[in-house]
Amino acid sequence: MFQGRRQESADKNRKLPLPIKDLDAVVLSHAHIDHSGRLPYLIAEGYSKTIWATSATRDLCAIMLADSAHIQEKDAEFLAKRRKEFIEPLYGMRHAVRTMDLMVGVPYNKVFDVVPGLKASYVDAGHILGSASVVLDCTEDGKTKRLVFSGDIGRSGLAIVRDPVPPEGADALIMESTYGNREHESVDGARAQLAQVVRDTAARGGRVLIPAFAVGRTQEMVYVLHSLAREGAIPSIPIYVDSPLAIDATTVFEMHPESFDKSEDMVQKAKELFRFDLVHYTRDVEESKALSRAHGPMIIIAASGMMENGRIVHHLAQGAGDPRNTILVVGFQAEHTLGRRVVERQPILQIFGEDVPLKARVEVIDGYSAHADRTEMIGWLGEVKDKSRNLGQIWLVHGEAPVQDEFRATLTALGYSVDCPEPHTRRTF
Ligand SMILES: [Zn+2]
Ligand SMILES: [Zn+2]
Repeated sequence: MFQGRRQESADKNRKLPLPIKDLDAVVLSHAHIDHSGRLPYLIAEGYSKTIWATSATRDLCAIMLADSAHIQEKDAEFLAKRRKEFIEPLYGMRHAVRTMDLMVGVPYNKVFDVVPGLKASYVDAGHILGSASVVLDCTEDGKTKRLVFSGDIGRSGLAIVRDPVPPEGADALIMESTYGNREHESVDGARAQLAQVVRDTAARGGRVLIPAFAVGRTQEMVYVLHSLAREGAIPSIPIYVDSPLAIDATTVFEMHPESFDKSEDMVQKAKELFRFDLVHYTRDVEESKALSRAHGPMIIIAASGMMENGRIVHHLAQGAGDPRNTILVVGFQAEHTLGRRVVERQPILQIFGEDVPLKARVEVIDGYSAHADRTEMIGWLGEVKDKSRNLGQIWLVHGEAPVQDEFRATLTALGYSVDCPEPHTRRTF
């Protein structure tokens, strides 16, 4: 699903790469909305065959696609009311529900038949809960070749999820390239930085406001804060998770311990990963409003990630003007968003149409990306190559054009055969 400028993404989202009747199955890599968000649109256009996913991906999609349908419907309603512009929502709740009817969850490393002549299996991509790389064995005229789709590649050492497992025996590879031109801060460094921010802010009597995506990043933050609290590395101040979607997502996480990284100390030792004495989950709107007026040091994790909407906006309206507070940015902030203006430390923010002086401290932690950086992707690819006899063509996807070009040049210099196909074009192998 494309997100961004309304008209541009609406047009892109309605353009399908092939007629629905030619589509025999969908094999989904993970639940992130840029990958799963258009599935209900397929259903709205008449698709009625199987959608494959890992079990955790299926359960995450149940809440994320319902949320997405809700946003589509609300958006269309808003435009109709405010601007007298009538747009058909991309899809509605009934299509999201029907998507879940068609979605089948399968375990990792278990071969399943997609269509005759095409077998698939999932290996862990280490990116978010349930994320996978897809291994496709394609048989034609008695010959089998293996096509691997990397999905979004995660990083070693990320909290909760296991490390990425590079697939074996690839003949051709479709690979993501999101951060093909940059390196991230280390995961351990991010943890230490988080502890420091919490200690400093609590000492000033302020609050730590953390805008975070409800699914994934929020659970990661709770998990890391839990482990820091167990070590006594942060003071005992209350932690509020203020987002109904994040609460639902936490429940889905708890339903999938099979996807947790059993080598992590906390996974082994803590009885409950996301529930402990300091953490409070607020579902109720009134409770959330009361929270934004409450006093004393605390941590508030609220949606949404780029601060444009969701409950975090209320907390920023109340809290941005107080120099004791810290706004802690743990994710990417796109241009033209409130999040970006906060990162740029603009002296006056516009929130709900009012001027709010930005007096709170702003801290940015760079190490929380769930995507592999350039070095990590080259490492992953190296392992795929070592475990494959005939790795031939590599097609790069999922990255901005200049980044893809740069990454292609890097990989070509390392001896790989790399191509960056345009969308809606065809390749064979
Ligand atoms: Zn993703
Ligand atoms: Zn993605």
